[in-house]
Amino acid sequence: MKYKGMVSSFQRISCRFASTYRHMFEIVNPATGKSIAEMQEDYGEDVIRKFEFLAAGQKKWNLTPVSQRKAAMFRFAELLDLKKVSLARILTLEMGKPITQARNEVRATIDRIQFLTGNVEKVLSEENMLQTSRLTEKVTYEPLGVVANISAWNYPYFVSANVFVAALLTGNTVLYKPSEYASLTGQEITDLLHEAGIPEDAFMLTTGGGGVGAKVASLKGLGGVFFTGSNKTGLEIAKKAAPNLVKVQLELGGKDPAYVRYDVPDVVAAASTIADGAFYNCGQSCCAVERVYVDKRIYPSFVEAFVKNVKSFKVGDPLAADTYIGPVARQPQLTVLASQLLDALEKGARAEVGGSLHDNKAHKTGYYFPPTVLTDVNHTMSVMREETFGPLIGIQAVEGDAEALELMKDTEYGLTASVFCKASSIAEEILKELDIGTGYWNCCDRVSPRLPWSGRKGSGLGSTLGMDGLRAFVQPKGIFLQQPHGA
Ligand code: NAD
Repeated sequence: MKYKGMVSSFQRISCRFASTYRHMFEIVNPATGKSIAEMQEDYGEDVIRKFEFLAAGQKKWNLTPVSQRKAAMFRFAELLDLKKVSLARILTLEMGKPITQARNEVRATIDRIQFLTGNVEKVLSEENMLQTSRLTEKVTYEPLGVVANISAWNYPYFVSANVFVAALLTGNTVLYKPSEYASLTGQEITDLLHEAGIPEDAFMLTTGGGGVGAKVASLKGLGGVFFTGSNKTGLEIAKKAAPNLVKVQLELGGKDPAYVRYDVPDVVAAASTIADGAFYNCGQSCCAVERVYVDKRIYPSFVEAFVKNVKSFKVGDPLAADTYIGPVARQPQLTVLASQLLDALEKGARAEVGGSLHDNKAHKTGYYFPPTVLTDVNHTMSVMREETFGPLIGIQAVEGDAEALELMKDTEYGLTASVFCKASSIAEEILKELDIGTGYWNCCDRVSPRLPWSGRKGSGLGSTLGMDGLRAFVQPKGIFLQQPHGA
């Protein structure tokens, strides 16, 4: 890797696995559109060599006492804390996340590590299911083996740590393929894990784009493929892994609705919470609010408060501490956003703020999209049906609970949904009707280390985080212990 001011162990670690001719790929700063670094892309044979190295190391890593594995993970958390300022800066430079939000991400990763590390022994302990004088029936829990961790760029610390922390603690070794749009962060994570005491043959980085991901997903002998990314790629990965009958877990996109009921106690507060849930990280969160339904009785006051909020968001240089909205991370996403916007405007939507692609004259370079709020939207428009993943949102008026529920259900996705109203019982009734992994009352766009994180329907398969997110990395073995006859 070539990167000004950074020393990397990538060359040192990778050269043992690399073929002689190297293909390099560019790391581009989305705020400027300029290249800031180059990295080596792995070839198929590099991927295979790294996998074999991890397969050979897995038994040793599993025999390492859990206390030692936990100590290394706590040390990793300490290193993240020590280096959070420089790590956040790298994240901002390569994917455009505003620096304050980048620091929040690094800091909050530590909470996840602490929860998973503090609870790992519970999922590793064997369970006695039957005990008689002659017979014991028990379950033991074993790691899956070498697991593939193929991840997205939008929260590169969160989405990869959800997998590798739980996987390493439970005795698996990990082949880690960060997104090509968060590769510098992937490199930093790898260096810090090794510095913390995770051996190289327990955790390896493989770099590159979709071709490298496809190679990883199709490796024979993997114990599991854990993927975070788009629905389209998730389906590809499932197909690649299928012939090997390997466990596949998928954390995919969403089209997460928020419903604001007529009896919400504070319309302005609800508007502010939902605006943050829609625009934080430039709308590039899997659980970002992507469509809003508001009871028609409070629709005008909600829209007014929402628009006021969005107008107050500071758009600008993501390195500035007071910037709330920076560029989107990937240039092609600008086309997706423009196409959803034009489709909605053509079908009668009204832009209350933003809405013109020329609004960002201040940003001559970089991948900026003006924060845009649309009203008069409906489900014939792609902005209300397809994942947006950017600073663009539609707000639709509804007659009441029945219509809101019908519209919330009208989606291929099933990640999260939120209800803003007076009584938790009403919110819980509505959330029960929805095929989603996470529900919220008077909050949104949130993930807790203590709760399982999962998507349903087109949003994925399986869970990370919570106790289920640890169990996902072990497999049960049933053991019968029968006293010998005559004993
Ligand atoms: P993506 O699907 O384009 O890429 C994700 C990863 O897959 C990258 O590492 C990429 O290199 C790799 N990849 C691409 N093509 C591949 C192929 N054919 N075979 C194997 N690997 C391949 O997604 P992205 O743009 O990085 O991330 C954005 C998406 O991720 C959004 O849809 C977002 O909602 C979703 N996401 C979901 C969650 C969740 O927890 N459910 C969290 C974060 C992001």
